[in-house]
Amino acid sequence: MERYDATVIGAGHAGCEAALCLARMGFNTLLATMNLDAVAMMPCNPAIGGTAKGHLVREVDALGGEMGRAIDDVFIQSRMLNTGKGPAVYSLRAQADKKAYQSRMRRALDEQDRLTLRQAEVKDIIVENGRVKGVETMTGCMIESPVVIVCTGVYLDSSIIIGPCSWQGGPQGLMSSRNLGMSLRNLGFELRRFKTGTPARLDGRTIDFSKMIAQPGDEKITPFSFMTAGELKNRAMCYLTYTTEETHDIIRKNLHLAPMYSGKIHGTGARYCPSIEDKVVKFADKERHPIFIEPEGLYTVEWYAQGLSTSMPEDVQRMIYHSVPGLENAQLVRLAYAIEYDCIDPTRLKATLGCADIEGLYFAGQINGTSGYEEAAAQGILAGLNAGMWLKGGDEIILTRADAYIGVLADDLVTKGVDEPYRMMTSRAEYRLLLRQDNADLRLTETGFRAGLARCERYEKMLEKKANTQLAIDMIHSKRLAARLQMPQVRIEDLFVSVPGLENIPSDALEQAEISVKYEGYLKRQQSQIEQFRRAEDMKMPADMDYLSMDTLRIEARQKLARLRPASLGEASRIPGVSPGDIQVLMIALERHRRN
Ligand SMILES: Cc1cc2nc3c(=O)[nH]c(=O)nc-3n(C[C@H](O)[C@H](O)[C@H](O)COP(=O)(O)OP(=O)(O)OC[C@H]3O[C@@H](n4cnc5c(N)ncnc54)[C@H](O)[C@@H]3O)c2cc1C
Repeated sequence: MERYDATVIGAGHAGCEAALCLARMGFNTLLATMNLDAVAMMPCNPAIGGTAKGHLVREVDALGGEMGRAIDDVFIQSRMLNTGKGPAVYSLRAQADKKAYQSRMRRALDEQDRLTLRQAEVKDIIVENGRVKGVETMTGCMIESPVVIVCTGVYLDSSIIIGPCSWQGGPQGLMSSRNLGMSLRNLGFELRRFKTGTPARLDGRTIDFSKMIAQPGDEKITPFSFMTAGELKNRAMCYLTYTTEETHDIIRKNLHLAPMYSGKIHGTGARYCPSIEDKVVKFADKERHPIFIEPEGLYTVEWYAQGLSTSMPEDVQRMIYHSVPGLENAQLVRLAYAIEYDCIDPTRLKATLGCADIEGLYFAGQINGTSGYEEAAAQGILAGLNAGMWLKGGDEIILTRADAYIGVLADDLVTKGVDEPYRMMTSRAEYRLLLRQDNADLRLTETGFRAGLARCERYEKMLEKKANTQLAIDMIHSKRLAARLQMPQVRIEDLFVSVPGLENIPSDALEQAEISVKYEGYLKRQQSQIEQFRRAEDMKMPADMDYLSMDTLRIEARQKLARLRPASLGEASRIPGVSPGDIQVLMIALERHRRN
């Protein structure tokens, strides 16, 4: 029987990060995936990043992951979003050449020592006495492995829906995974049915761009990776158009044919990626909806119509698209569709994304009920890091809500669970003033380095930035110019004359210094909130606490606590249905437990 230290199932955005992470930490890793031509495939929007998603990509990069460097190598247009607001919500978004992104990620996998990439469908996860033993593939090949990371995305018993038609299948004409779901059920996992959808792909030669508004990229481009150097250039344009009253009429007249409204679709869809029919129904007061026309790559005629996701019948799709200015004669080279798929209930996992009651088993990506390339990559690296630390016999790596967006993501999944596809948003991060995309390296690179993932070069670069930032702050304070910099219209460059030598500080450290001084008051307040949060996180709940017999707790709280077994008082306080009154009861119980 073949043996690997770790087996990762699925080479999507989660699986690629998890497998690279484990191999870079020194473990012989097998990455088994159904189709090698679908490695790091982007079945939906041709972009990486966006609001809050950009933060996740930078955090993955800061830990030593691959997504940030890959997109910097193949992006075709880049924009920093939300620059009209504060730096806490600045978010990078880069258009990707999809094929180039896949080849770039495949190259990283192929060139990685200790990583074996194989085309194989895993049908069973072998568990004995509460520990993972390995996997079995569709061809009966048994692979021994103390660690298994499940990253099967949208493929578990997935089915495609277009109008009255539906069939078992994965995205973009690929196969669905039909056996692993049963294996997970046999291991006691509750599977739920989720749904997502994608717009049609259009032949760019049949689009009239003169009827649209060009959306150029930024002049000065900020890379995703803290390791990317040199000047970056945009190589493509995006366009903006809008739906019309005619579009909305077509949809209203054919709503009975929409699978979402005819009852053909049962899966729960993503609130924040609604189909066009959903938008027309739910936002009926809106006269028009924006549609972004984005290139799928530099060497393809295919264009993506962001905002026109639908599962309407083919003929209705054509009517909808042809009613949009600029798309009157557009060729739909791939139809829009909805996909339903199974995913697990992530409250069965710990904040490491490891399974609470099966050692060595981890889950990452859309299988956990999230939606998005970035959310998947973030979970992949977290699961990879923790599986690696477990194999080393080291400490778990828990990223809390005060450390990272990745921590917010993991905590939301395992404490609150999901009842619809979970998308990251800045509003989910209560400590977002400190969890900015610009300081992800200062927050996380040390963790990646200590775990053996982030390289020395990256670690030293971060230390240099940290030292330069402090030097710049000290220089400004030594000249008593902090208050001046706190004036809204003043930028750090305006102090160069009054602070000799400040102009020599590298721009990334100047940016940090400016934010630290300008928002000093807010940041201090947030820091004290974080200290309070950490105190609650440090109050560990005993693993054997008998919640069901605690009659001073409300019944709902007893049941939820007994099922979810929170690691800390802080985690307990975030479980839906556990009230502040219940937390008081737990604090008394904890004190009594400590004394006994
Ligand atoms: C139609 C569609 C629309 C989408 N729309 C959006 C959107 O609007 N917004 C958004 O944020 N995200 C959207 N997404 C989601 C986005 O694509 C996913 O979130 C992301 O790709 C998830 O990454 P992942 O690594 O978890 O899984 P995936 O990228 O799905 O990769 C899973 C991998 O696992 C492999 N695999 C599956 N089962 C097995 C098995 N048994 N054995 C071996 N290999 C296996 C597959 O071949 C695949 O390579 C959409 C996805 C689809 C398909």
